Amino acid sequence: MKRDYYEILGVSRTATAAEIKKAYRKKAIEYHPDRNPGDKEAEEKFKEAAEAYEILSDPDKRSRYDQFGHRAFEGAGGFEGGHFTNMEDIFSHFGDIFGDIFGGAYGSSRSRSSGGRRRPQYKGTDLRVKLKVNLKDIINGAEKKIKIKRKVKAPGTTYQTCHQCNGTGKVTRITNTIFGRMQTTGTCNVCGGIGEVLRTRGENSDANGMVLKEDIVTVKLPKGVRNGVQLRVAGKGNEAPGNYGMPGDLIVQLIEESDKHFKREGNNLHYDLYISMPEAVLGTEKIIETPSGKIKLRLEPGIQPGKILRLRNKGIPDIDGYGSGDLLINVNVWVPKKLTKEQKEFFKKNINHPNFQPNPGKSEKSFFEKIHDLFS
Ligand SMILES: [Zn+2]
Repeated sequence: MKRDYYEILGVSRTATAAEIKKAYRKKAIEYHPDRNPGDKEAEEKFKEAAEAYEILSDPDKRSRYDQFGHRAFEGAGGFEGGHFTNMEDIFSHFGDIFGDIFGGAYGSSRSRSSGGRRRPQYKGTDLRVKLKVNLKDIINGAEKKIKIKRKVKAPGTTYQTCHQCNGTGKVTRITNTIFGRMQTTGTCNVCGGIGEVLRTRGENSDANGMVLKEDIVTVKLPKGVRNGVQLRVAGKGNEAPGNYGMPGDLIVQLIEESDKHFKREGNNLHYDLYISMPEAVLGTEKIIETPSGKIKLRLEPGIQPGKILRLRNKGIPDIDGYGSGDLLINVNVWVPKKLTKEQKEFFKKNINHPNFQPNPGKSEKSFFEKIHDLFS
């Protein structure tokens, strides 16, 4: 004998939809299997309440029930909602009820429509490597080949849907806390959230059926990178176990090697040029080997030590494409420590000559003025 649906929920025959919903919620929590572990009677009452709610919450079904009683749903396969075979189904079906209380923890993560359950978007872990880059790579851009070891599915490994979570990767629990009964959705402890478990395990594979495999990945270095920049190569991290996962990414962290001759400052490069005293006096031509090629410099006679020559756009290309920095050449004049007798005589003879007297004019700015010029 089936009990009366109104009686099951403890409401009157004239109860409103809101009252029915409230009553069912109360019963569902009271008889929830998590609260009554192993209690067959509670489980039956839980299912009974779910069935009553399915009928009474639907205006059409409720009116048929009011007219014909349980007979209204007899015949074709008995109970119309006869899919109440397990707790999982009940939760899926009445997700919205719990969603009201628990902020959508039930129901929202499950989809019974659109032909199949929703699978977790499981992604393999990212791999991290460090890559040294030199100034030439930074200025010109480069393609680097990196040897890595990544986890892949072993030959012979196959997977099947996890029965604990039905492939969703999640399980729902109700726990008692000082704030009352809380419903939480957590990661499935059988499959670890993957939604699948091993069916067969390939040779020499780990607990997830994976093996380490060597791979060579080509990484494209854009121009203008700097120390600490991370490049992401999509899909070249560890593969995910299971049939539906996506591989993680390879994250390449750049380590900038310092250059022997050029010092970087933002996108500008500094270079110390040393010339001899005669060269400074007579003028000279110098060829500088820069990472982007050779540059010929002509130095006028009488160039002062400490002069800074700015070569526009000969520095490092901006990583975002906003032009290039400059190459700044600091002119140093090498003063000899050893002289021959004749050389010494020459300087002695000229020590008071007007041509050798310091006479800084407008064209020979002080060190501080030059620095100001550079950054203004
Ligand atoms: Zn699972």
